[in-house]
Amino acid sequence: MPNQPNQDSFGIYLHIPYCPAKCRYCDFYAAPGSKAVPQGYQNALLRQLAANTRRPDTLYFGGGTPALLSPAQVAALIEAANPNPGAEITLEANPDVVSPERLAGFRAAGVNRISFGVQSASDAQLKRLGRTHTAATAAQALAAARAAGFDELCGDIMLALPGYTNAEFEDTLALLQGEGCTHISAYLLKVEPGTAFYRNPPPNLPDPDRAADFYLYAVERLAQAGYRQYEISNFCPPGHEGRHNLLYWNCQDYLGIGPAAHSCLGGQRRFWPSDTPAFISGQLTEEVEGVCNAEDYMILQLRLATGLDLAALQAGYGVTLSPRQLNWVVQCTQHGYATFDGRRLCLTPAGMIVQNAILAELI
Ligand code: SF4
Repeated sequence: MPNQPNQDSFGIYLHIPYCPAKCRYCDFYAAPGSKAVPQGYQNALLRQLAANTRRPDTLYFGGGTPALLSPAQVAALIEAANPNPGAEITLEANPDVVSPERLAGFRAAGVNRISFGVQSASDAQLKRLGRTHTAATAAQALAAARAAGFDELCGDIMLALPGYTNAEFEDTLALLQGEGCTHISAYLLKVEPGTAFYRNPPPNLPDPDRAADFYLYAVERLAQAGYRQYEISNFCPPGHEGRHNLLYWNCQDYLGIGPAAHSCLGGQRRFWPSDTPAFISGQLTEEVEGVCNAEDYMILQLRLATGLDLAALQAGYGVTLSPRQLNWVVQCTQHGYATFDGRRLCLTPAGMIVQNAILAELI
């Protein structure tokens, strides 16, 4: 079960803040116009990895566009991270920055899980989003990854895009399923401050009710296609869950390295400020973010389909729900937003959409 973790599990996240171009919806910390990852950045990551003595069970290359790393750079970073045998090693990739040779190189370096930003099977939509690939490129990249020996193949997609329809979702699901994806992450488009979409909103954005309909349709269709929901935005056949992200949702230890990366170690949260030149020069220091408390635990556990175990909440944090909170839980179950068996509280897909409102009342 995903949320009955081995409490000793530990993960490392490496942030790669470089991208070929800036997508119009993206607010991640990454420099556009990049064709490769500078050696100085690689060296800065290696310095930080050398200071860590704990062997990870998961290693995640996120970004940005980590597939801009060369296979040799990836191999050196994996060696420096010194993962435990059987570790999950994930690399995020854009379909148009990989070739069969590079994919074979990543696989030979030790990467065993690859995650492609596919977003949509509509070329017009991809263009609107500022993506630099097409649906055909995405299908070719997934097929090439399979041929390179990746058994764990992930596709990220977006829902409720401008002018979105259930037919666009169906085409996108067919692409991912047809290419043998073992894991799908489906995110509702959010127009975030600082993005091109925020400055110039695209026409025909679905309103929140319509966006919720697209989400519920996706959850249902993904389940029918064999991709069971295990987290708000994550779906897979049993046994293909992303072990690294499960560390986050289960409040286990992870070390984040690189500008904008976050860590949580022993319940203490830290982050690196978003400043790549200072990180490369060794001038950047991590800042304290706070302590992971019972509220954080509740929020993160309720993201998972397996929900919040009240006995674990009490054992870990000494917290029990008050009669007022239990009354709210009952109301949520009566309205179809949650299930509760007296010990485990789980949000339904309808509850996950309004998770913030449920949590505001609960916490
Ligand atoms: S969505 Fe991904 S590829 Fe696009 S700019 Fe953001 S990090 Fe880069």
